[in-house]
Amino acid sequence: CGIVAYIGHREACPIILKGLHRLEYRGYDSAGVALLNNGELSVYKKKGKVAELEKFIAEKDTHANIGMGHTRWATHGEPNDANAHPHYSTSERIAIIHNGIIENYAALKEHLQQQGHVFHSDTDTEVFVNLIEEIQKKNQCSLEQAVRLALHEVVGAYAIVVLSKDNPGQLIAARKGSPLVVGIGENEFFLASDATPIIEYTSDVVYVNDYELVIIKDGEMDLRSREDVKQTPYIQRLELEL
Ligand code: GLU
Repeated sequence: CGIVAYIGHREACPIILKGLHRLEYRGYDSAGVALLNNGELSVYKKKGKVAELEKFIAEKDTHANIGMGHTRWATHGEPNDANAHPHYSTSERIAIIHNGIIENYAALKEHLQQQGHVFHSDTDTEVFVNLIEEIQKKNQCSLEQAVRLALHEVVGAYAIVVLSKDNPGQLIAARKGSPLVVGIGENEFFLASDATPIIEYTSDVVYVNDYELVIIKDGEMDLRSREDVKQTPYIQRLELEL
């Protein structure tokens, strides 16, 4: 139900957790984070409040400058630790967070299982990340291409953020039907379901449109259509009260 992601020079985890707290008003049943550091992609997730997640990761090494967090409002699969986001792909090299519903997940899941993908949750979301992995393997393409091609195969609503250990320094996001905002700082970027987790750090935001992909890499943001046409981001200056 809520998304927060960060890439830049600061510690990602505290920014993400604070952002998740700011999104708590949207309602949720579980929370989780994925952190990318030194070639390691770590996922921590828990049923319950963000405070439960914070307790769970208190003893873990959460040092990272890239990461993403999620609060889940279950639509497919009961609220439990396994169904909480982020979800890994089968190889555990890619992770995803997702708001929304993938309507054709059952057919996609069956196909992916035949290709050898293994599922650990009852969510529609886990299908999405395995689809990305399968497309990347089959087409030997970049992660960004694989995400873009996957968007052509899923039916439903989504705001997603994708992290891959093979693409450190990259955040890829996309939306259709679920809100997604990019915050543009100095050599740092924020992604969130609404501007409340971002406004503390920057007032320059881009509201992502349906069928758009956000590719953040090498300190730059690239906005592209699902057909891979470069879009000009409309940067708005927010004047919200903190
Ligand atoms: N459909 C997904 C799930 O049930 C995402 C739900 C959400 O938007 O939080 O896990």
